[in-house]
Amino acid sequence: MDTPKPAPSPVPPPGDGLVQVLDIDRSDHAYRRWLSTAVAKVHADANRSADTHLLSVPLPADWGVDLYLKDESTHPTGSLKHRLARSLFLYALCNGWIRPGRPVIEASSGSTAVSEAYFARLIGVPFVAVMARGTVRAKVELIEFQGGRCHLVDNPSEVYEAAARLAEETGGHYMDQFTYAERATDWRGNNNIAESIFRQMASERHPVPTWIVATAGTGGTSATLARYVRYAQATTGICVADPENSAFFPGWRDGDLGATTAAGSRIEGIGRQRVEPSFVPGAIDRMMRVPDAASVAAVRVLEKLLGRRAGASTGTGLWAAFRIISEMRESGERGSVVGLICDPGERYVEKYYADAWLREQGMDISPYLACLERFLQSGKLDCPGAESHRA
Ligand SMILES: *Cc1c(COP(=O)(O)O)cnc(C)c1O
Repeated sequence: MDTPKPAPSPVPPPGDGLVQVLDIDRSDHAYRRWLSTAVAKVHADANRSADTHLLSVPLPADWGVDLYLKDESTHPTGSLKHRLARSLFLYALCNGWIRPGRPVIEASSGSTAVSEAYFARLIGVPFVAVMARGTVRAKVELIEFQGGRCHLVDNPSEVYEAAARLAEETGGHYMDQFTYAERATDWRGNNNIAESIFRQMASERHPVPTWIVATAGTGGTSATLARYVRYAQATTGICVADPENSAFFPGWRDGDLGATTAAGSRIEGIGRQRVEPSFVPGAIDRMMRVPDAASVAAVRVLEKLLGRRAGASTGTGLWAAFRIISEMRESGERGSVVGLICDPGERYVEKYYADAWLREQGMDISPYLACLERFLQSGKLDCPGAESHRA
């Protein structure tokens, strides 16, 4: 970028009592042209995209409680991380953090990396995903399919440092979704996930959801939902369902942002070993810790209800939504509950949909399946298996 620099300001002769003007102009016209093109490409991609469906889940109408699932698996890169990746790229581009020819690097449990690899290719920069070795093979293949490279580390808690180091070594940019997810997203509107849900609910019999249930990986989705309902002065509560081995639940319950866990989450995409900076605890109304076996059971029940498969994080949220519906039924409250389909089940045929994996994990989903069967008959979720706290 050999842009001619303007001549420096005239330097006053010393000794006349004036202070010298310091003026540094780093204008780089070639870079700005590249940047404009990159931003235009991201905008054009958004312009080509349709909104995601809000699916109505068939439950008996006389229950008086309706369940909807926002199907985020239909984005071009298959998960709710498509929204995040778009926001992170725009934020980083407009901050001057992404430079032509320099790689973008990310610490990820996979879904974000798939979406970021897509946007990196769109604007023509290299992409490297730093992930734990246990990530399903299908995600590695999807990242490579989008033109990205995968750098695998043994321990999931190493990903942050490995990504930062790689960025330093290559002169690239560490995107750091776990820090920036909450601030890169336009939480007031701009058709974010919350605004879209409220618009799509407008013609329903209970248009303002009693609860919206999210899960947390970065915490960004729950932050956007929670901030939006507060900004819109809606009465909706935001519940975050958390899996085993996640620091979010104990961190939120005990007001301890330094909470950590010893083992990584088995539910891909959600549950972190530390309370991520992007998680905004003060805006969350309620948290529920859902057993992993219940998450897997719930996502298998989803297939029976909707005829489609989803990843296990969808099951974590669905279990919490069922529990809330059961409570509303018990207290005679009518209303609506909205959950999310976070990513497609095809990525996990060898994991959550494989009995061999369940055996290997010592995970018995049958009591939870039986419990869910009873729930779908009676509207009462009568088994234990979720610890719950309200703000
Ligand atoms: C990231 C992710 C989530 C949680 O979303 P955040 O906005 O990062 O908290 C849920 N499910 C899946 C599959 C994910 O990849």
